[in-house]
Amino acid sequence: MTFSTEEAVGTPCTVCGAALPPIHHTVCEACSGTFHFRMTESAQALDCGYVYLDEQQCTTVFLCAPCYGKHVLGEDVSQP
Ligand SMILES: [Zn+2]
Ligand SMILES: [Zn+2]
Repeated sequence: MTFSTEEAVGTPCTVCGAALPPIHHTVCEACSGTFHFRMTESAQALDCGYVYLDEQQCTTVFLCAPCYGKHVLGEDVSQP
């Protein structure tokens, strides 16, 4: 048995609950949950969140889908 250096591998995605792949995941800035995120455009991988450019801070912020809806779109997506 080998252990990966990627500590998030095997952790369930905070959005969809599926296990995270080695590369294509990141951490939500709002809820600190780890979620699926394609690190390259061509990758066949899930996206369970978005990258958001904060124009005031001039930083890119990773947000999972529920937090993106809440903080950027102003929607509460937890209530269907
Ligand atoms: Zn996911
Ligand atoms: Zn989040």
